[in-house]
Amino acid sequence: MKSQSQLESVTKSPDTILQTYFGFDRFIGHQKEIIQHLISGNDALVLMPTGGGKSLCFQIPSIVRKGTGIVISPLIALMQDQVDDLVQSGIRASFLNSSQSYAESDLVEKAFTSGELDLLYVAPERLLTDRFLQLLEQTTIALFAIDETHCVSQWGHDFRPDYIGLSILQRRFPDIPRIALTATADSVTRKEIITKLGLTGARQFISSFDRPNIRYQVKLKNQPKQQLLDFIRYEQEDNSGIVYCLSRKKVEETARFLCDQGLTALPYHAGMEPDVRLKHQRRFVQEEGIIMVATIAFGMGIDKPDVRFVAHLDLPKSLEAYYQETGRAGRDGGKAVAWMVYSLSDVIMLRKMLESSEADEQFKRIEKLKLDTLLGFCETTECRRQVMLNYFDEELKQACGNCDTCLEPIKTWDGTEVARKALSCVYRTGQKFGARYLTDVLLGISNDRIDRFNHDQLSTYGIGTELNADEWQSVFRQLIAADLLNIDLTGFGGFKLTPKCKPVLKGEKQVLFRKDPVKKSRQKVKPGIKSQVWKNPEDEGKWEKLRILRLKLAKELGVPAYAVFKDDTLKDMIHMQPKTLGEMAEISGVGKKKLMSFGDIFLKELASF
Ligand code: ADP
Ligand code: ZN
Repeated sequence: MKSQSQLESVTKSPDTILQTYFGFDRFIGHQKEIIQHLISGNDALVLMPTGGGKSLCFQIPSIVRKGTGIVISPLIALMQDQVDDLVQSGIRASFLNSSQSYAESDLVEKAFTSGELDLLYVAPERLLTDRFLQLLEQTTIALFAIDETHCVSQWGHDFRPDYIGLSILQRRFPDIPRIALTATADSVTRKEIITKLGLTGARQFISSFDRPNIRYQVKLKNQPKQQLLDFIRYEQEDNSGIVYCLSRKKVEETARFLCDQGLTALPYHAGMEPDVRLKHQRRFVQEEGIIMVATIAFGMGIDKPDVRFVAHLDLPKSLEAYYQETGRAGRDGGKAVAWMVYSLSDVIMLRKMLESSEADEQFKRIEKLKLDTLLGFCETTECRRQVMLNYFDEELKQACGNCDTCLEPIKTWDGTEVARKALSCVYRTGQKFGARYLTDVLLGISNDRIDRFNHDQLSTYGIGTELNADEWQSVFRQLIAADLLNIDLTGFGGFKLTPKCKPVLKGEKQVLFRKDPVKKSRQKVKPGIKSQVWKNPEDEGKWEKLRILRLKLAKELGVPAYAVFKDDTLKDMIHMQPKTLGEMAEISGVGKKKLMSFGDIFLKELASF
């Protein structure tokens, strides 16, 4: 017999569960439809961006339906946090994975088979054991939720062979509803999920992939570490964030640099000892205001809702990768920033890495295309969000107003004449030199190399004095982004003309360039996120105090800080100043269980202000 839940009086309608357990007023996006669809026993495929609210889509039906909801997730390290969060909300959840002792998992299994769990999280390899499949057959199952479903796809980047085995669920448990969820946007992966998991009959719920709370900022690299430091100091002080670097060495250096500047930064990459890595990950998730400096080894499924920024010191390898990586910011819906610096030499380096890799030609061609698309995104003069969503076959009708090109529109200039000079200089010097040398020739500079090649005799020598060296650098970058120049990767990375050059050289086609913004002096940096949040200066002090209290409680319970209350919930407390438990219960994110556990303590703290 299923034992009584901790919240006995709860009638099991999705709306009351939403309010009593989670403390939320209303469903968002497709949540309600999806939940109804599952409660009625149907299958669903859910595509929602990170932070879209996927978890409730299977958590609530698991509570409503008879039996236990089985959640299959590849992310063992996260199960504990997810379960902690649920238990804090009064939901009977547990997990089974290889991190537990035999005795621990035995206890969980007993609770499961005697019907005491609403939700059970398991890794796919555990689910697929004969023993566990038998347990499933003997127990009442509410539904199967397959999280991070794109792991079944070989096209995507997170392929996990165990996921293929999950097709067994359909055959062995045809009457139990399945819900497959992912934040991957591309249609090839979607098709593969449907065929591999036998979800042809499942209804598809596809949400917009826009993440309106993330502000995109892409800048030219000049002094990357200093730029990063300024960004964090002026816009993100005390916030949690992730800084991505390409190499392990750079991860270490950057983390050290930030620590030397008095910030709390931790490195994370695949070359570190596993226990140190895990320790850093746990600190990042559980504490606040930690900056994780990492390679892309860090990321998939990092379930921390209050990451306020993701910074890229190096270019990711595609626009999909950029979307996924930046998507780790702002899952709680609060303001967040995706910040990136890039330079032409980054692009050249990535192309060289690709060229010298062992991969086959077909793969290299696809990867080069992806990199070009990313460069196009960096160089765009249009709304970045429009460019990105367009890439995912989604149309955003109006410019977003929340990216750097919207906020500070890029000025363009007619660069037709300048482009012709640059291209003919490439041609006349034999298509084997890079931006620096070509700039020297255009500016008419004399040096040994130019003398040696007699390039001071060329018609293009000294014809480009209307621009300075930085401006020529920008021109060459944009010529590459516009596919008018190609980088020759077989030699020393010199530039070659592409077929698209012809109409430009003949003067038949206009070329528009973006004006690179003038480097700002540091004092002029606009006030960022932090200073915008607090209208009253004294609120900031209250905020700090509530955060300290939250961290103290979280530490005592051994759970992440956000499992006590999320940032927005604390902010609402400051704004609404509840005086009674009844008023406290009105605040979004305060469910019954949390009200009982933490209501009084927080009321007392609020009263002390
Ligand atoms: P995903 O798994 O899609 O990345 P989550 O399920 O983790 O997203 O939800 C993201 C955040 O949104 C969480 O902090 C969650 O508590 C919050 N959330 C989800 N549904 C609602 C809702 N109906 N009302 C308010 N907040 C919600
Ligand atoms: Zn925009």
